Amino acid sequence: MSKSKEICERSVSSTVIREEELTERLLAQQPAAKATLERLRVRFEGRSDYGAFAPIRNRGCGACKVTIASQGLQRAQRGVFITCANCARFLYIAAVE
Ligand SMILES: [Zn+2]
Repeated sequence: MSKSKEICERSVSSTVIREEELTERLLAQQPAAKATLERLRVRFEGRSDYGAFAPIRNRGCGACKVTIASQGLQRAQRGVFITCANCARFLYIAAVE
């Protein structure tokens, strides 16, 4: 089934999920990620773009644009938070509810 979702680039900002919600989901899924999350928050504090989380865009990290390995993408598609190999942010697929 190839139900290609034509991307509406204009609505990009609305697909970004609130950080509070992401934090809740992440910790429910990976309680051990808490320490990493705190480190990321300190590291990216004050950045205008993304904090500790970034949405996946065009098979890459939404923040630093590094391409994500297909294995990682598959996990993300199942709703698992993965980490960016470059910037270490937690990545998620924004369209998934
Ligand atoms: Zn990244």
